Amino acid sequence: MDTVTLTIDGRDLQTRKGATVLQAALEANIYIPTLCYHRDLTPFGACRLCIVEIEKMRGFPPACTTPATEGMVVRTNTPRLQELRRNTMELILSEHPYSCLTCPKNLNCELQSVARYVGLEQVTLAPIYKDLPIDRAGPFFDRDYNLCILCGRCVRMCQELRHVGAISFTYRGGKALIGTAFDRPLQDVSCEFCGACVDACPTGALMSRADKWQGPPDREVVTTCPYCGVGCQLKLKVKEERIVSTIPVPEGIPNHGQACVKGRFGIVEFVHHPQRLTSPLIRRDGQLQEASWDEALDFVAARLKTFQPQELGVISSAKCTNEENYVMQKFARAVLGTNSVDHCARLCHAPTVAGLVQSFGSGAMTNSIDEIGRAACILAIGTNTTETHPITALQVKRAVSNGAKLIVANPREIDLCRFAAVWLQHSPGTDVALLMGMMRVIVDEGLADSAFIEERCENFDSFRQSLQDFDLDFVERITGVPRDRIAEAARTYATSCPATILYAMGITQHSHGTDNVLATANLAMLTGNVGKPSTGVNPLRGQNNVQGACDMGALPNVYSGYQAVANPDIREKFEIAWGCSLPSLIKEKFDISWECSLPSSPGLTLVEMLEAASRKEIRAIYVMGENPVLSDPDVTHVRETLAQLDFLVVQDIFLSETAEFAHVVLPAASFAEKDGTFTNTERRVQRVRKAIDPVGNSRPDWWIICQLARRMEARGFDYSDPFDIMEEIRYITPSYGGISYQRLEDGGLQWPCPTEDHPGTPILHASSFSRGKGRFIPLKYIPPAELPDEDYPLILTTGRSLYHFHTGTMTRKVAGLNTLDPEGTVEISPRDASQLGIAQNVKVRVTSRRGQVVARAKVTEASPPGVVFMTFHFAESPANILTNPRLDPVSKIPEYKVCAVRVEKL
Ligand code: SF4
Ligand code: SF4
Ligand code: SF4
Repeated sequence: MDTVTLTIDGRDLQTRKGATVLQAALEANIYIPTLCYHRDLTPFGACRLCIVEIEKMRGFPPACTTPATEGMVVRTNTPRLQELRRNTMELILSEHPYSCLTCPKNLNCELQSVARYVGLEQVTLAPIYKDLPIDRAGPFFDRDYNLCILCGRCVRMCQELRHVGAISFTYRGGKALIGTAFDRPLQDVSCEFCGACVDACPTGALMSRADKWQGPPDREVVTTCPYCGVGCQLKLKVKEERIVSTIPVPEGIPNHGQACVKGRFGIVEFVHHPQRLTSPLIRRDGQLQEASWDEALDFVAARLKTFQPQELGVISSAKCTNEENYVMQKFARAVLGTNSVDHCARLCHAPTVAGLVQSFGSGAMTNSIDEIGRAACILAIGTNTTETHPITALQVKRAVSNGAKLIVANPREIDLCRFAAVWLQHSPGTDVALLMGMMRVIVDEGLADSAFIEERCENFDSFRQSLQDFDLDFVERITGVPRDRIAEAARTYATSCPATILYAMGITQHSHGTDNVLATANLAMLTGNVGKPSTGVNPLRGQNNVQGACDMGALPNVYSGYQAVANPDIREKFEIAWGCSLPSLIKEKFDISWECSLPSSPGLTLVEMLEAASRKEIRAIYVMGENPVLSDPDVTHVRETLAQLDFLVVQDIFLSETAEFAHVVLPAASFAEKDGTFTNTERRVQRVRKAIDPVGNSRPDWWIICQLARRMEARGFDYSDPFDIMEEIRYITPSYGGISYQRLEDGGLQWPCPTEDHPGTPILHASSFSRGKGRFIPLKYIPPAELPDEDYPLILTTGRSLYHFHTGTMTRKVAGLNTLDPEGTVEISPRDASQLGIAQNVKVRVTSRRGQVVARAKVTEASPPGVVFMTFHFAESPANILTNPRLDPVSKIPEYKVCAVRVEKL
């Protein structure tokens, strides 16, 4: 029997076997006071407030550590219990200053609530004041341990759930305190400033500065984090029409009450930043000058009409909502007449789409974030998950603490290496060789899942033949990883069930990125790790809505739902649904007479658009919420290209580096000021909800595009709100057919979700692959396009920081994030640094064949000899001046992850 029946306060209840009395009571909404219990942490039994009476049991056991058993009879609120609790509370309060009126937590304090519940009216014991200095050194929260009641929630949260261990109990007995090792500042003890300890603290001891003395907000609006692809559910607290703080939603999926520093502390400042764009700008006499909306929209519409479709390019946005991306690609196709619409997925996960479609038939994460925590083996390759997808990393660490084996494949010593059973430190750009080497071991040692291959897959023989090129001597020579370690990783992955693969841009951003993705798919199929819980191939998408922007057809070859533009039946379907036609004005001007009004051949990708612009074939570009001046490779060339455009429109929330080149800048509303949906990395469509009005004169992106479309005489852009747009998306996009705002009120839905009664799809390819059979693809090792030589002897690889996001347009507006990560650095190994005479923190010049960048050196063992690392968030040291624009021939992604550089001391 998996349940037990017990009686609490006269009510007969059922609970799961193994639950405690406290958990059983909470599930039944029966309140038992407690200060140390937290639903996500192991019971601690420290505060002694949750004592209960249990028939046939002596004494007063704590409900939080007493298992519920069959037939148990429990009383939670007797006069005797209340008296004992009052005594306990008095002891706690004798060491806690009760100057509540001046406490920043007042009105929102669990200590007050419990004191009220137990009926404690006065404290007769002599007060003990610890007289500790308040620590105000951290960027986001203060620590006043005079208010600490030693419940230990913060310590357990940091150790058990966040796996950081920045804080602990210091000293013992009556001198016990919470603190860091040697009282060092949190910044110096690996604290990630996630705020989980603050949210768990029942008193005012740990207080977010933004929440101090705020009292209850006017309203709380549940929405989706605007940063990474995890899609954490957050509550925006609004007071007097300003967002005052954000906290993770306890029941939210996929974050379950957790957030990272960006979602917890990095939103308010950028939303209300004084540099937000609040008025349209038109360039006059070389200067961007304020204009009215009518003036700006009329001007843009009139200018766009002067270009032929093939002269126009549109860059949509992974930061904007699904509804906005849908409207933008419709605008590009139906109004401007071009399929040259793309977005930054081209720069991060285009190989995922290209590769997984070939292997599986669908280019998205196969499984769900929560499942990672239940895997027996995780291969994390090309992902620095702790920094880029912090909440996903919690699931990896949870799995490891449950006994899972973690294999990390990464050239750099990332945080996850601390948890790894095997670390494969391969040379950048050698992933195909590494994965094929592992697969060679699996096949040679008979560890492949023959039944799965036979039943579910095709083309295995030809794939097996291609493994002949990958004997371990060759693989060791190419990758630099000892052959025994490769074999150990292969055996670990193949013999642990279920095993899952996580990857990110370390796999995709290569001139052979599609091959890398195909290799991960081959490995999963080879071991039967597809279509089952906690298995699969899981590309971790970078930006909040990069999955959604792809789903919505902000790509040059497909409409929403990956429906091919080149397919005449599909094209006709969209023409009918959109009722579209090119404006007569454009038709007449350029003598266009085609009946089929949507363009039929795939358009240019993002990088191709800029190349075409440099040849003056593309003359006008419309950019919504992207910043190619920092995000694209070889940015010197990008700048020159943008500067020579006949017309550049940029729609954004800040005057980005790209907006500075624009002829017209249109001020957009931030995520907090509009409704819509984002689709996170696990294909979960989630609501974005308007919390405040758009700041200044900014407007939601969808509204701006619709206004332009109407001014260009287009039909089908009369939406009254994003709900209307989603209704159209559902109608025309089979995988979103069952996803309505109404259903999303109860949480997200994972596509495919074709009908109103479909529950969504957490696991893809369960009984058959989207393409029928999974296809093994034979692979060859292709080296990176640019390797070190005498002039450029080091490899530069790029990535992200926990504290910043993308090109920093939002995070660099947040003072605390800038304090924690103030500038771009060049990470270099001690060996290379010593050979080049470079000391810690000195300024160095990094030069590639495309340009040079100056930044401070960070000498660290995390970088292997021969490899330097930079993040790409900083305009002052833009790493993408250096990176190689060489494209993967299939997906057209540039090779950001490997280029040859030299480093010199300044
Ligand atoms: S902010 Fe997060 S990492 Fe830092 S001490 Fe608190 S729980 Fe630990
Ligand atoms: S700081 Fe807060 S959470 Fe931590 S032990 Fe003290 S009261 Fe508990
Ligand atoms: S940035 Fe990502 S991990 Fe951090 S809170 Fe937002 S969605 Fe969650």
